[in-house]
Amino acid sequence: NSVVLVTGGSGLVGKAIKYVVENGSGCKNEKWVFASSKDGDLTDRASTEAMFLKYKPTHVIHLAAKVGGLFGNLSANLEFLRKNLEINDNVLFMAHKTGVQHVVSCLSTCIFPDKTSYPINETMVHNGPPHDSNYGYSYAKRMIDILNRGYNREHGRNYTSIIPTNVFGPDDNFNVQEGHVLPGLIHKIYKAKEEGYDLKSNTSKPFTVWGTGKPRRQFIYSRDLARLIIWVLREYKETEPIILSVGEEDEVSIKEAAEQVAIAMEFKNGFIFDTEKSDGQYKKTADNAKLRKYLPDFKFTPFPIALKETCDWFVENYETARK
Ligand code: NAP
Ligand code: GDP
Repeated sequence: NSVVLVTGGSGLVGKAIKYVVENGSGCKNEKWVFASSKDGDLTDRASTEAMFLKYKPTHVIHLAAKVGGLFGNLSANLEFLRKNLEINDNVLFMAHKTGVQHVVSCLSTCIFPDKTSYPINETMVHNGPPHDSNYGYSYAKRMIDILNRGYNREHGRNYTSIIPTNVFGPDDNFNVQEGHVLPGLIHKIYKAKEEGYDLKSNTSKPFTVWGTGKPRRQFIYSRDLARLIIWVLREYKETEPIILSVGEEDEVSIKEAAEQVAIAMEFKNGFIFDTEKSDGQYKKTADNAKLRKYLPDFKFTPFPIALKETCDWFVENYETARK
């Protein structure tokens, strides 16, 4: 029997895994534990050890991290670096010390080199400096791959990593200053709708998209990502990372994404761009050929449907959502 410990079990991706496990993907011989920071501070070695001794996992999905969107990263790169280095070293060391054979940790497509050729694949993680806007998060995440190789080479551990592209879904962080673009835009539209029609100026409020709207992103629905992570845990045996992303053909500009969010929120007052705000990395187009080789028939939820489910979730859970 397996005990799967999910660190970061209370976050966007952790909650999606919980949803998928509880809705049919659980196995009888697996006990799942979804841990949050209330179960222990993973930046602290003793607290991490206590968590491993308490739950005695046989498998770990390691998601816990200090996570933020472009503007969260820009304001606190050093903190992103230090916290994530501490969390990752503590989790992998304690997994090894307590005999966990299999760990799946989470990288991100934003850690890839900024100056590169496209599409980016799994062999290119360390090929050059990441985009300056999120250097702290990126270098800390890159070290997970180095740690995995060390635990594999020196101790025969099966510690691997996944590289998801931009994730969105229910339970995201909808805080506009700290979070990612889609939850930020959903929240901004919610507010613009609340403020509604302005009698004084005889206008309805548009919402504001930061930057020029030209950068391009691949978005993955958290519940699709959750299904893929469970597959990785059960079936993927390589130490090398694997990109978990929709195809290159599904990449959209921020402007197109804003249009789709407006449709999903049934918002008709349009949007404006604040070009004083940063665009961040122009693109980080990732190649999902390796994933497609393993799972040629995997079906991603169409972007408009996943967005609609996310917007509906936010409206229904407005009072308790992270914002
Ligand atoms: P999230 O919603 O911000 O959740 C972060 C999780 O980490 C929460 O469960 C949080 O616990 C936990 N955590 C943070 N600091 C901790 C600490 N010191 N000790 C213990 N737990 C701690 O993040 P997410 O979006 O689900 O991200 C999950 C993973 O996916 C991360 O590794 C992230 O780097 C990666 N990723 C995310 C994206 C994206 O677009 N969101 C894209 C690519 C990769 P509390 O709830 O108790 O605070
Ligand atoms: P990234 O993919 O790691 O860069 O992070 P984000 O999810 O924060 O996306 C950043 C991109 O979306 C940049 O081009 C921003 O200029 C643009 N953007 C537009 N509006 C927003 C917003 O309200 N919040 C965020 N975080 N980004 C926005």
